[in-house]
Amino acid sequence: MPTTEYPPPTAEALLADGTTAIIRPLGPADRDAVLELHSARMSEASRRLRFFGVSRRAPELAADRLCGPPRPGLLALGAWVGADLIGEADCETTDGRADTAELALAVADTWQHHGVGTLLVEHLVHAARERGIRELEADTLVGNRAVHKLFSDLGLPVHRHLDQGELKVRVPLDENDEHYREAVDERGRAAGVASLTALLRPRSIAVIGASRRSGSVGQAVLLKIREGGFTGELWAVNPYADEVAGEPAFPDLSSLPGTPDLAVLAVPPVVVPGAAQECGLAGVRALVVLTSNLDGGQARQLMHACRRHSMRLVGPNSLGIAQTDPVVRLDAEFGGALPLPGTAGIAVQSGGVGIALLERLARLGIGVSSFVSLGDKFDVSGNDLLQWWESDGRTDLALLHLESFGNPRAFSRTARRVTRRIPVLTVDAGRSVAGRRGAASHTAAAATPTVTREALFRQAGITATRSIAELVETAALLHAQPLPRPRGNIAVLSNAGGIGILAADACAEAGVPLLELPSEQAEELLDLLPDGASTGNPVDTTAAATAEHLRACVDLLARSPAIDGLIVCLVPTALASEDGPEAIRALLEGPARRRIPVAIVQVGQEAPVRCLSCADGGTLPSYSDPAAAARALAHARDRARWLAEPHPEHGTTATADTPSADTPSARRLTADFLRSRPEGGWLDPKATADLLACYDVPLTTSMWARNEQEALHAARTLRPYGHDGRVVLKAYWPDQVHKSRAGAVRTGLATDADVRTAYSGFTTRFGARMDGAVVQPMAAPGLELLAGIVQDQVFGPLVVLGLGGTTTDILDDRSARLAPLTERDLTTMVTELRGAALLTGTPVVPPVDTQAVRHVLAALSRMAADLPQLTEADLNPLIAYPGGLICVDARVRLEPRRPFDPYLRRLRRPAISEEP
Ligand code: ADP
Ligand code: MG
Repeated sequence: MPTTEYPPPTAEALLADGTTAIIRPLGPADRDAVLELHSARMSEASRRLRFFGVSRRAPELAADRLCGPPRPGLLALGAWVGADLIGEADCETTDGRADTAELALAVADTWQHHGVGTLLVEHLVHAARERGIRELEADTLVGNRAVHKLFSDLGLPVHRHLDQGELKVRVPLDENDEHYREAVDERGRAAGVASLTALLRPRSIAVIGASRRSGSVGQAVLLKIREGGFTGELWAVNPYADEVAGEPAFPDLSSLPGTPDLAVLAVPPVVVPGAAQECGLAGVRALVVLTSNLDGGQARQLMHACRRHSMRLVGPNSLGIAQTDPVVRLDAEFGGALPLPGTAGIAVQSGGVGIALLERLARLGIGVSSFVSLGDKFDVSGNDLLQWWESDGRTDLALLHLESFGNPRAFSRTARRVTRRIPVLTVDAGRSVAGRRGAASHTAAAATPTVTREALFRQAGITATRSIAELVETAALLHAQPLPRPRGNIAVLSNAGGIGILAADACAEAGVPLLELPSEQAEELLDLLPDGASTGNPVDTTAAATAEHLRACVDLLARSPAIDGLIVCLVPTALASEDGPEAIRALLEGPARRRIPVAIVQVGQEAPVRCLSCADGGTLPSYSDPAAAARALAHARDRARWLAEPHPEHGTTATADTPSADTPSARRLTADFLRSRPEGGWLDPKATADLLACYDVPLTTSMWARNEQEALHAARTLRPYGHDGRVVLKAYWPDQVHKSRAGAVRTGLATDADVRTAYSGFTTRFGARMDGAVVQPMAAPGLELLAGIVQDQVFGPLVVLGLGGTTTDILDDRSARLAPLTERDLTTMVTELRGAALLTGTPVVPPVDTQAVRHVLAALSRMAADLPQLTEADLNPLIAYPGGLICVDARVRLEPRRPFDPYLRRLRRPAISEEP
């Protein structure tokens, strides 16, 4: 059964060489283009492979077939670069079989080996799946090597069968194929990096709008590019000047001595669309738009020019970019100081934050590999940069400051991969409601809800800090020190007892509580230290400790297998010399990196964090506040844990726990509901029960009663199944929320009289509003939980687990993950609740059936993946027992929407607001 009748939308995506192709369905208007593709743009040899012969009529027939009036069984997609149709892929159902389609493919000769066919087939596979097609078939000639290679590299299982010189290929379209997703990801990564080369490693740059007015943005950038020592060609474009700040200026792009790879636009908003168009026509491959305050029309024209002419775009409203690779040496930003060359990759949305970050990192001596101020992020996003840093061979630390996520699921997937290799740090900006409002108006992009962001960061292994200060403090540690062992046992050593205690408190607060040192270590330490020292944890060396004492202690603790990280708090003592505390000098003479991370705390230090240089060239981070050191270590510990966790295939879904879902029935039910309620809404109790049954979610029996008599009858039927022989009565009307708050729930009804009273109470109270009532057996008391799905149009589904029932808002103890959930997600969702012990058991509370809880979460994950129209599901409460669980209240909301496949390769479409 087709799940949707929408035509596939137009999408833009990158070819293997980074060219932007536009993919859209073919229609009658495309007949000439299709004919030209199959005739002028293909050699006779290509045509023979395509049509199995040399019939002169073949191109005509193909054009007629693909561009005739729409046929329900035909899906035909074209790939365009600019105005040229460069390839076509189509599939058509045959012999009345709705779930199998015959695939055909053609690529213009000059565009062979650019991944055109593969990209088209990916989009066709997506569209075919949406239509319920389960298998593609293709007849190919044995000699058609390009097509055979395409199929073997695609990532989908391919079955081949030789039949009279023709090779029949069958491609089953398995929905949850991780192998395919990985292949698609890898192609996306390679194409993305190729497309960014013109931006981040340009050989030539034009600054458009380089003004003679000193202090203007255009001139400032021009000067910075020159002074930064850019190794390529630099041209100024200004129709009103012969030279700008000593650089010769050209009136327009066509008068330049060559075609620039990159153009930096610093022109007024009205000029931006025309300048972008001119760049596109000239063959520029990337734009950095510094201009802000574009109105909706200007923004759309800018985007259109970029997509049509295959230019990647940074901005608008960008502060610029920088690349410190000595081969390039590009400083095209008008904010901060020239970044030191180094290994930190930085992407910021807000330019102000970018300046601040560059300055602080420079003060710490942490160098930058590349810096991008994303601005309004119409095109190039944090996701693109993660992929760039993953493969640039220079970056070993990524710092992101993002206020919104364009395609969060793609981001989380990329981040999961990149964070395996390098730490990715971010500031969780827009946490508060006010912060989100600010972020929305600031970047013209609605920011993402907190709970979703947290889930996203955690799932992706991203280190999310709460402020720029914390970001920098954590970067200082991760940059210079090894990770702790995942266990994260921290020791605090100090030469002033009081500071040691402050540090111990800070550690507890940061979630790295100090354990007592093993007695062996404690004794060894005592032998090393002056009288009066105490060797609990924190270790107090007393102020009488000399530099030698301290160094010996640090060496001993760093070697101890019981300790995974060390905070050394030092105050200047009588032993301090002119150049600072003697003890620090002793430490800096030792190695910067030991087996465990070492953080220094000097409360007298003016800067919140410094990187102290050691004799061996490495650095030790030194903090003025023990809390900062503790937080940085806690982040490092979390990262070590994330790395130590088994990562099957990233993104593997929780298949072991996924019940045998009846997806076709669930989809049918969804479609039926939306046919009767095209605007969407809450399912009624019967439809809700049917839907949950498709996923094996245990829901209590409900009977429907339209009047008191029917309620009485239902109560009599259900009473034997109720706890203590009791039933529950709930008044029902469509789209109701919070029944108990409205007084629409009566529990514990033991007798006929109870049921009558409850029913007549409802009639008095709700009158005609009420359609009737639901009668349920009373469930035994147990642990009340809530589980559900929230789905965001952009984000995709999020599965939530919480403690609760009617008290859920008070307890406010919830855990959430983006679906699809992995096995690990299922485990951590249960264990990370503050009240996890209520589920897993304590000496006085027996454990509940966590396997059953996992089963429900996996079912929700599957349901969310199957039904994009499901915007909200709320199982509250789920009553859990030692031997199972039951849901007594479920609500499901459906809305019409087209499925969103986050794994399909396509460039993001920015949300452009009309307001400048
Ligand atoms: P709502 O969430 O709309 O207020 P519920 O159907 O969840 O309404 O009922 C409110 C509370 O009543 C539940 O949290 C639960 O504690 C209790 N309850 C509801 N139905 C049952 C039932 N069948 N058995 C036991 N308790 C129930
Ligand atoms: Mg409820």
